[in-house]
Amino acid sequence: MRSSNKRLESMPFGGLYEIFAKANKLEEQGKRIIHMEIGRPDFDSPIIAKEAVKKALDSQQVHYTDVNGIEPLRKAICEKEDRRFGLKYDYNSEISVMAGAAEAIGVIMATMMDFGDEIISPSPFFSAYKEQALIAGVKLVEVPVLMSDNWELNVKEIEKRITPKTKMLLLNSPNNPAGYVLNKENLEKIASLVKERDLIVISDECYDEFIYGEKHVSISTLEDMRDRTLVVKSTSKSYSMTGWRIGYVLGPANAIKYINKVHQNFSTCCTAFAQWGAVEAFNHGDSFIDDMVKEFKRRGDYLYESLSKIDGLKMVKPKGAFYAFPDITSFGMTEADFCSYLMEIAGVVGVPGTAFGDYGKGHVRLAYCRSYEDIVEACDKIKAALGKL
Ligand code: PLP
Repeated sequence: MRSSNKRLESMPFGGLYEIFAKANKLEEQGKRIIHMEIGRPDFDSPIIAKEAVKKALDSQQVHYTDVNGIEPLRKAICEKEDRRFGLKYDYNSEISVMAGAAEAIGVIMATMMDFGDEIISPSPFFSAYKEQALIAGVKLVEVPVLMSDNWELNVKEIEKRITPKTKMLLLNSPNNPAGYVLNKENLEKIASLVKERDLIVISDECYDEFIYGEKHVSISTLEDMRDRTLVVKSTSKSYSMTGWRIGYVLGPANAIKYINKVHQNFSTCCTAFAQWGAVEAFNHGDSFIDDMVKEFKRRGDYLYESLSKIDGLKMVKPKGAFYAFPDITSFGMTEADFCSYLMEIAGVVGVPGTAFGDYGKGHVRLAYCRSYEDIVEACDKIKAALGKL
C-alpha cells in the first residue's frame, strides 16, 4: 500500500518522536533525564473535575453528545471567558467544543479554506500548524518573528507575503515556542492590515492564562475584529488537562455553524464524561489556574536568570506560555546536534528550534513544565555541559 498522499510527502513525520524515543531509551538505561521537551504541565488536573468525571460515568454519561458540546459546558466556558478575559460569546451559537485546540485548528482549516489557499503564520510556530495545513491541502507561509526584533511581528513582513490566495492569518500569543506576547499596539497594526486585506484570523490563545506581567489581549476584542476572528482555546494547559482532549473555538455564529458540520464528520463530539468534568474546571477552577501560573512564573524567572548568565546563550525573557527559546548560534552546532549534546552530557531534553518552522533556526526550546527542583538541576547541568565546549 502507498504510505500517504502526495501532499504529505514533505511532512516531517517523527522528528519530535525520535527525540522522545532517544530520551526514553537513555532513561531505560538508567541515565537521569530531565524532560524539557514537551509542553505538558506537570500538575494534576483539578480534583473537582476528576470527581465530576467519576460521577458522570456512574450516571451513564457515556453516549454521543451535541456536536458543539453539552450545554452546561458551553455555558461554563462562555462565563469563564467573560469573567477572566471580557470575551462575550453566546453559548448556543458562538462556541464549539472540540477535542483540543489541535482539532479545533484542523477543523477550522478544513471548514474555511479551499485547496491551494494560503495561510500566513508568524514563525516560529506550534509545529502542528504546518502539518495541519498540509493535511487540509493549503499552503502555510511563514512570516518571521525574530528575537533580534524583540519578538515583535512586523506588519510590513506580513504584507509582503499576501497574495490573491491568502485567506487567513494564524496567530499564537502567548507563543509556543518563543514565549513572546503580542501587545495591544502590535495587534492593532495587525488588525488594520487584516481588515484592509479582508482576511480571517485564527487566534490560538491556548496559553492565555500563562502570562507574566502584561495583560492578555485577544485580537478578537479590537474594533471590528470579532466577526473575522476565530478564537481557539483549550483546557490542556490552563487546567493541566492535556489528556482530556477538551478545547473550543469561539466565533461568529455563521462560521460556527459550518465548523460544527465539519466537526460532526470527524469526532462527532468530545468524550461525554470528560465534558462533564470540564464543566467543574471552568466553573470553579480560577484559583487552580492562578496557583499554577504563579508556580510557572517562579520556574520561568529562575530559568531565565540562570540560562541568560551562560556564555554564548542569548535569551529574551519569555513573557508568556512556559517555554524558553534561547539562541544557540554562537556554539556553532546544528540545533539537532546541540540537543543531542545536551541530552547525552546534561541529561536535559530540549527540542531543536527548526521543529517550529524556518525561523526557529538557531534556537532550542526548553519547556519548564517540570518541578522547580528539576529546573534548578537542569540549569546547573546545562551550564556545566556548555562550559565544556
Ligand atoms: N496550540 C498551541 C500553540 C500549542 O502549543 C498546543 C499544544 O502544545 C496546541 C495548540 C494543542 O493543544 P491541545 O492539547 O488543546 O490540542
